[in-house]
This record gives sequence, structure tokens and C-alpha cells, in this order.
Amino acid sequence: MTESTTHPLDAVDPLASYRDRFVGASSDLVYFDGNSLGRPLSVSGPRIARFVEEEWGGRLIRGWDERWMSLPQEIGDDLGRVVLGAAPGQTTIGDSTTVLLYKLMRAAVAARPGRTEIVIDRDNFPTDRYVAAGIAEECGLTLRWIDVDPAAGVTPSLLSSTVGPATALVVLSHVAYRSAWLADAPALTAIAHEAGALVLWDLCHSAGSVPVSLDEWGVDLAVGCTYKYLNGGPGSPAFCYVASRHLSSLTQPIQGWLGSVDPFLMGPSYAPAAGIRRFVSGTPAVVGMLAMQDMISLIESVGISAVREKSIALTSYAISLGESVLGPLGVVLASPRSAAERGGHVTFNHPLMREVTAALWERDVIPDYRDPGGLRLGLSPLSTSFAEVEHGIGLVAEALESLA
Ligand SMILES: *Cc1c(COP(=O)(O)O)cnc(C)c1O
Repeated sequence: MTESTTHPLDAVDPLASYRDRFVGASSDLVYFDGNSLGRPLSVSGPRIARFVEEEWGGRLIRGWDERWMSLPQEIGDDLGRVVLGAAPGQTTIGDSTTVLLYKLMRAAVAARPGRTEIVIDRDNFPTDRYVAAGIAEECGLTLRWIDVDPAAGVTPSLLSSTVGPATALVVLSHVAYRSAWLADAPALTAIAHEAGALVLWDLCHSAGSVPVSLDEWGVDLAVGCTYKYLNGGPGSPAFCYVASRHLSSLTQPIQGWLGSVDPFLMGPSYAPAAGIRRFVSGTPAVVGMLAMQDMISLIESVGISAVREKSIALTSYAISLGESVLGPLGVVLASPRSAAERGGHVTFNHPLMREVTAALWERDVIPDYRDPGGLRLGLSPLSTSFAEVEHGIGLVAEALESLA
């Protein structure tokens, strides 16, 4: 990773220099978890400090009227334009992904009265499954489970054979958190719609690494994190998208004052605001929304399709190197081999991967572990180098050899 050993793939990578914009990128630490918590951009620290001095410290409560109150919708529009393929007025920032899943799932099932089922796959992220189960219990609905190949994900034929006239809502992840399976979102959305259901996409593992075209795909609802590929920092608030055609009819269950028509009227009862603001509940997390703005503008200047190209190059390299170096040690690929079916991370399985991960963390190599036996390498496109992948996979092999 020193200058004298520039990796040939870094030498020809047009985005190689962006790595220097991230805090800590010059150290020898190997970071394979940018899909769980992105590295901070160097400009974010000064931006946050400036905010404390000038806006919070200087404007004090006037800041709400001057700028902060509309920030969730402003950043939502930027995110929509740069990352989500969403026209303005349909995206807002706030809450956690989990809370937004609850709000949107409740809104969706209420909009399909008489339909009794929520369709979700068994390998979807735990919080998605748990929230869906809670809503099913609360609203007297049934969960219809899709069983999937854990090294792949939900296919059009699996979904077609599950949805029907009872389906109110289909909840899917665009990129599977374990295998990185990249769902065919436009095809799956069309299948849900043919059955008369709404569809809610979880974009946590795609937003900022895989191009998304929510408007073009006809998606109804979407949510996602901002602390993964959007580098918003630990616990930065999530985003939600509600297609404009649903904005006047859907209502969400957490009827807070800041989602009401006129919050400062402080009236006797709740009436939802027009537009996406009706999905807001309480005071926005302004400090938590600062860093993500830096990453959104960086992605805008690079272009999401160039980000995706580098992501594919990184994951393809990790697969070929991983199979040649780790394959002989009994490691098997647990992610799609085809780049068109794969998001921004790669998972390799071996029964000792839990121990391997612990040993690697001790040596400043940071992947994560996902049951059963999965070593997950998240390769955040703008902050990961090919040299880092090579160095890290070499150390995985060493760790595995010494543990086996
Ligand atoms: C990371 C992740 C979440 C996290 O939800 P939080 O409410 O931010 O904890 C949800 N869904 C998916 C698919 C994720 O990958």
C-alpha cells in the first residue's frame, strides 16, 4: 500500500485519487466495511465545526426559520436527483430506516384495505422482517414468506408465484445484505403492481453504490440508510421516498406536529401536510444531516454510473483474487458471480470465518462476519483501492491458514 507498490489496477483507475479525500485513507488499515459505516470525508469535520460556530452558535433558534426546517426536504431532493432517480418533492430525510419502514409499511397496508398479506423474503434484513411481523400482528395481516437461495435473492419467478389478490404490500431489499444479490427492481415492481399490490424497496445497500431509478421503475415507496455508502456518519438519519401519485392519499401512523399542515398553528388536531412533509414526524436531526451532504455532492461530481463501474471492478477483482487465493483453502463464493446481479460487496463462506474476522480485526483488517460462515467484504467504491483489496485478501488467507 505504499507509493512504491502502486497496484496496476489503481494505476489505471480514473477514480483512484478520490480515495485521498477520506479520513484515514493514507493509513495501512484495510477497510472492508464501508457498506456498514462509510469513512468520513475530510471536508465533513470542518463543515460540522463551522456549523457549530456559525449556524448553531451564531443564528441560534433563528436557524430553524432560516434554513434547518426545510433541510430534510432540500437534502431529500438532492439525494433524489443524484442517487435515487427521483424528481423533487418525493424524498425526505429523518428517523432511522427501521422507523421509516414502520411508517411506510403502515401507510401502504392502510391504502390496500381488504388485502390481508405482506410478502417478504426470509433472507431480508432482520429489521425489515421484524417490523413487517409487528405490523402483521398489529393489523391482523399474514406474512407470506419467499424462501430464497442465501447466495442469491428474490427472482421474478419467485415473486410471481407468491403474490396474488390478497397481497397488500411487497417488501424487498434492492441489494441483499448478505449475498449482495442485486434484485431486478423494475421487473419485481411490475409483478407486484400486476397483482394490485404496493412495493416498498429497502435501498440501504444500494443507495450511493448502485444506480437507482425510482421514478422510471414506477416504485411506490423506498427507504434507506445514509451512513453506509452515503457516508453520513454513525446514526445519521435515513431517507424515504413516496411516489408523487401517492402523496395525497397515503398517511403515516406517527402523526407528529412537524408533519402537520401548519405546525406553528399548534391547532387542536392533526391534519397531514400536503406533499412529502406529511411523512415527517418530529424535529429533524440537523447535525446528523451535515456530513451526508458532502458525500452527495461528491457522488454528483463523479457521477453514479462511474461509481458503479468502479464498484464492479472492485468486486470482480475481489472475486477472482479471492477464489484463486482462498479457494484452495476451502472458501466458497456466496455472492452472485455475474456483475449484473451483484451489488457493492462480496461474501465468502468458510466454517472458520467468525474466527478469521476476529483475528483480522486485531490486525487492522476490518471486514464483517455474517452467519452462517460468511466473511463480507464491503468495497465502498470511492474510498477503497485495489491495493487494499489485494493486501486484505492476502491477510484473510494468512489468518485462515493459521487457524485451520
Ligand atoms: C443497515 C440496514 C438497515 C438498518 O436500519 P437502521 O434502522 O438504520 O438500524 C435496515 N435495512 C437494511 C437492508 C440494512 O442493510
